[in-house]
Amino acid sequence: SKGQWEVDPAELILGEEVGSGQFGLVLQGRWRERRVAVKMVREGAMSEEEFKEEARVMTMLSHCKLVQLYGVCTQHSPMCLVFELMEQGCLSDYLRARRGRMSQDTLLGMCLDVSEGMAYLESNNFIHRDLAARNCLVSCNNVVKVSDFGMTRFVLDDQYTSSQGSKFPIKWSSPEVIKYCKFSSKSDVWSFGVFMWEVYTEGRLPYENRSNGEVVEALNAGLRLLKPRQAPEAVHLLMEWCWKEVGGKDLPGSHLCEWGCVWVGRV
Ligand code: ADP
Repeated sequence: SKGQWEVDPAELILGEEVGSGQFGLVLQGRWRERRVAVKMVREGAMSEEEFKEEARVMTMLSHCKLVQLYGVCTQHSPMCLVFELMEQGCLSDYLRARRGRMSQDTLLGMCLDVSEGMAYLESNNFIHRDLAARNCLVSCNNVVKVSDFGMTRFVLDDQYTSSQGSKFPIKWSSPEVIKYCKFSSKSDVWSFGVFMWEVYTEGRLPYENRSNGEVVEALNAGLRLLKPRQAPEAVHLLMEWCWKEVGGKDLPGSHLCEWGCVWVGRV
């Protein structure tokens, strides 16, 4: 049976390419008077049956700081995913292109936008699993929104999904994710700390000159990313909070921080 999340290919107009990622090409397009971004899923890149089950849940997640999934076109081959169009592309490129020209208010505003999107995900018991500046997108009004939430679960590429793999985002991962693949909203908070670091360094790569193995070693030794020059003390304190380890009983190596204290707007 067709759900409301099924997009009729007759209503979908495809346009120019705007990017490409793990799943394949992303085109801009139109769907029911809306400008959309369409992910054309490459053959063999996604576990499609599992994704279709989850698509219903994901289309129901709706918040002004999340990139909306409008629906999925499963009749089309390859399958395609229809999202809200974010005219200014991914945040990591946006930051690098504007180095030295962004105010403190702008940087803090980006962190606040993303913390709101993430707080909404947590309130819906939804774990992002891959929060990073590259997975946030910028709208025509310079609003930053969280994208690609939960999508790594459907990637068919061991290099990306195994914590041993070369494409696994170790540098954004909490110790319990690296050690036990224990994903939670708390591991999203860890990633949010690294995200804030990316914002305040205007798009630098975390632990730039270290290999994944060296990063794991440094974290185990208690080392953390350093305060970006532009980050106020209060923001740096928040980052450090995100990167706390407490030896909880039920969650080995969990950290202290919940979204309640990562409310950047209150700094
Ligand atoms: P994947 O999930 O396949 O890895 P990404 O989400 O990384 O793909 O998207 C690849 C690129 O396509 C992004 O870096 C961005 O430039 C562009 N893109 C993705 N989604 C959108 C969107 N909703 N609006 C505008 N551009 C997008």
